[in-house]
Amino acid sequence: MKFSPNISRLEPSATIAVSTLAKRLRAEGRDIIDLSAGEPDFGTPEWISEGGIEGIRSGATRYTPVSGIPELRRAIAGYLESVGGKPVDWEGVVVGAGAKQALFNAAFALFGPGDEVLIGAPYWTSYPQMVVLARAEPIPVAGDADRNFLLTKADLDAACTERTRGLILCSPSNPTGAVYTLEELREIAEWAKEKDIVLIADEIYREIYFGDDRPCAPSILELPAESVGPYVLIDGASKCFAMTGWRIGFSYTEVEVAKKLGALQSHATSNAATPSQMAALSAYSDLERAREAKQEMAATFRGRRDKVVSLLQELLPQLSFVEPMGAFYFFIRVDALFRDGVSDSTALCSWLLEESGVAMVPGVAFGDDRFVRVSFATSDELMESALRRLAEVVGSPASTV
Ligand code: PMP
Ligand code: GLU
Repeated sequence: MKFSPNISRLEPSATIAVSTLAKRLRAEGRDIIDLSAGEPDFGTPEWISEGGIEGIRSGATRYTPVSGIPELRRAIAGYLESVGGKPVDWEGVVVGAGAKQALFNAAFALFGPGDEVLIGAPYWTSYPQMVVLARAEPIPVAGDADRNFLLTKADLDAACTERTRGLILCSPSNPTGAVYTLEELREIAEWAKEKDIVLIADEIYREIYFGDDRPCAPSILELPAESVGPYVLIDGASKCFAMTGWRIGFSYTEVEVAKKLGALQSHATSNAATPSQMAALSAYSDLERAREAKQEMAATFRGRRDKVVSLLQELLPQLSFVEPMGAFYFFIRVDALFRDGVSDSTALCSWLLEESGVAMVPGVAFGDDRFVRVSFATSDELMESALRRLAEVVGSPASTV
């Protein structure tokens, strides 16, 4: 079969490929600890699931408006108002099948042949692919490793050309867990505005934040209007409400752009699943209850983060890593373990999966082949035994590292 040029540069998602492999090996009877999965290990809070169940029982099983039921879009707008402290037009909210669809809509609607799109690197593996699907050119830009790769205006200036149309920024970052301060965000937003570059701000991990200075990671919604040019905010229920399988994400942007995103979605998938929208309606309608649920989950992740930091320092002191301030990933530098036959992150992950049964995602999937990504969205016990297994393999004479 001859394929269209639309997918000539397409690569499958590495994050999903590794977690699928881990599930398969486990089904075959192997003792696998999966640190690849980018999803909370908690169940969806029951009162949110009840909203979905009640929706099914009461007949919420048909099509809805493509961009989501108005009540849900209004509830999300109310939540975004609580984040930014200023009015949010509910018609600027488009609900889709996960933040992934919201991002795809934005990339496909805003970029095209001849355009360059800057992507903060290391990056979530799907960003460049989405830009490629729009037939635009992804341009990864990494900040200084000493600053946890966070971008500055100078980094952006160096990568910007007259063809640059967009910038995709993820804070808290998948895969590093690094978080921009509000001041740093302001500087970047002003830079983008000045250059008339669309800022796509992926804040899906905003509520999984470990700083003591504020309840959530800083949002572009908090910036003064004069600092921000054209932007699309990406967020969703998957991470903060442990709702990955419900497939609910959304974008927020100016109403004219939102209409185009909705039009695109109307030809691709139509509305997000109706019962899932009903569950999300429960989640976004009771802000107080939602805040408590999210804070409880974030506190658990923070406890794990602390534990993993000390375990890494104790068990694998030869490896450096970015200390995450949010999300639930460690980005660990592993090139010190490379040797003949195992000289890149993919080979290292395969070898470690074989020898220790621990599944991790190679850093090359995020744009840096010297690293691996470890998700700590797993129980304390499993996390500790995974790190002990890794230390045993890496430290054993057979590994001759
Ligand atoms: N953005 C980032 C940074 C992510 O890690 C993910 C994880 N899947 C998504 C977007 C997509 O989330 P969703 O499951 O809601 O599609
Ligand atoms: N975002 C998660 C990850 O990075 C889930 C898998 C995916 O959609 O990529 O692992």
